[in-house]
Amino acid sequence: MADTAPKSFPAPLARCLGELEKLQGIGHKSALRILYGLLARGPEAFNSLAESLQAVPLLVERCPECRAFREAGQPCPLCQDERRDRSALCVVESASDLSLIEATGEFRGLYHVLGGLLSPSKGVRPEDLGLDELPARLKARAVTEVILATPPTAEGEATASYVASLISAPGVRVSRIGFGIPVGSDLQYSDSQTLSRALTGRRDYR
Ligand SMILES: [Zn+2]
Repeated sequence: MADTAPKSFPAPLARCLGELEKLQGIGHKSALRILYGLLARGPEAFNSLAESLQAVPLLVERCPECRAFREAGQPCPLCQDERRDRSALCVVESASDLSLIEATGEFRGLYHVLGGLLSPSKGVRPEDLGLDELPARLKARAVTEVILATPPTAEGEATASYVASLISAPGVRVSRIGFGIPVGSDLQYSDSQTLSRALTGRRDYR
């Protein structure tokens, strides 16, 4: 089957299919399966999906401190949790990488979610990643270890190196997660055990 909507498709269905295909990890066949599944469940399935999606931009925001997502106007479940280790901070590319690290249970400290990686060619600057505010945050929280958990790609390494250059305070350890993760790949492709080993096997970065 060609990866386009069937010719007999009414335009609204083709549009919906097009939107589903834009989702990460959803190919043409999966998009079709989801769409037919929704059609089988009836109008309510479309309404509740649409409502839940529309609520996200209204009710979810980035925590101004760690830049992870939180419920709008609510305390950040990571920054405000007194049981977390405030002496360690893990720098990750994305909120989804944060979720992967949380799932390992190996790290119970604070985070800095970059929301991207430094890339002069794509115009991503340190301030776009909240890095202009990071040194002050480390000082305010009296952080003694910064773990660089950006992926082992060219941009991930360049970003790790830049973050390390920001940390000049004596007594702050800078470490990099030890990789069992293949060079050039994303954290997303690592299973929980590999990531867990990468965290416990972290090495001094400098
Ligand atoms: Zn936070």
